[in-house]
Amino acid sequence: MAHTYDPTNIFARILRGEIPNKTVMESAHTLAFHDINPAAATHLLVIPKGPYVTYDHFAAEASAEEIVDFHRTLAALCASLGLTPGAGYRVITNAGEHGMQEVPHFHMHLIAGRVLGRLVERE
Ligand code: 5GP
Repeated sequence: MAHTYDPTNIFARILRGEIPNKTVMESAHTLAFHDINPAAATHLLVIPKGPYVTYDHFAAEASAEEIVDFHRTLAALCASLGLTPGAGYRVITNAGEHGMQEVPHFHMHLIAGRVLGRLVERE
């Protein structure tokens, strides 16, 4: 099924500079900023600047340059925050209804600063 990108989503508005954000790192194709409602001492959102809805959309359709830039920026963030080698962290991406994705612009949550518990609650 084709992915339809909604350019009115909140991260698209952040990328256009229409609403403020607390930027931590920026590269040619990627932006990292603080989550407005942090779940731990460190809770950053890492997003591509391009219009991708979900992880699979990004992985399938972004250029190799965008994909490498995204992952290298995440690695640079981990290094700059001293997360690795260190106490560790979690990277999460939610997609669609069952993934409980709130903002339909692909993003990774980079969460650290405490023991984070199990990944998914069992039913
Ligand atoms: P999702 O549920 O889509 O994986 O996560 C969306 C995340 O975006 C949530 O953790 C939420 O707190 C964050 N968020 C929603 N609106 C804003 C905003 O306007 N600014 C920032 N910095 N984060 C936001």
